[in-house]
Amino acid sequence: MRKKIIAGNWKMNMTPSQAVALCETLKPLVKDAQADVVFCVPAIDIVPVVAAVEGTDIAVGAENFYIEDKGAFTGEISAPMLVEAGVKYIIIGHSERRDIFGENDILINQKVKKAFASGLTPILCCGESLTLRKNGTYKEWIARQIAWDLTGITADQVKELVIAYEPIWAIGTGETATSEQAQEVCKLIRDIIAEMYDTDTAEKVRIQYGGSMNAANAAELLAMPDIDGGLIGGASLKPDFGVVANAANA
Ligand code: PEP
Repeated sequence: MRKKIIAGNWKMNMTPSQAVALCETLKPLVKDAQADVVFCVPAIDIVPVVAAVEGTDIAVGAENFYIEDKGAFTGEISAPMLVEAGVKYIIIGHSERRDIFGENDILINQKVKKAFASGLTPILCCGESLTLRKNGTYKEWIARQIAWDLTGITADQVKELVIAYEPIWAIGTGETATSEQAQEVCKLIRDIIAEMYDTDTAEKVRIQYGGSMNAANAAELLAMPDIDGGLIGGASLKPDFGVVANAANA
């Protein structure tokens, strides 16, 4: 039985003081959640958020890092920095990093490797554009992303991995994939993992849905057999996140 995982992706929102205030709002709302609850926050908010959630079951994640430990990489943050600060999860391959910052699958694969080598759990994002959804090639696209991004990753590592299926057309648009559409691709991802590795690995990997998940639609999405949680953008900045976290309790 896979434990559900509900992760907020705060994106580029919340100053440090706003971040602490949001933690104080959300802490009582998620305290009874049976899922793993993660706040993935901007780099500058990591230290105050780790302090704010101390003594709770909430884990802190980062939204980005670079593959080197230190050096002349202006503007970047490294895995050892995140680990020392108390970060447990790292979002890798989010469509905004792919599309706006030009991250490709070679770098994303290096990041997955670096995360595991550093003791961080990757939340590896994949998902298709509206064009690929409409022309019917989205399954091949997802299979390619998974194969590229997991090159050289062992079965034992994949058992610890979190994969987030995030159709780009549903991110921040208010348009949610139907629970059937989300289930179809999450099941496809599990089948791809079974083919690349084995069925035991496929049964253990946790697969989230992300894309306008909110208080109104979370329960239905999370009831699907291959959806093991959610990666939540907009609704993670509001008390709604408490409803989403508890929607996985059934
Ligand atoms: C995301 O950016 O990971 C996301 C799912 O955003 P939203 O929930 O706002 O669609």
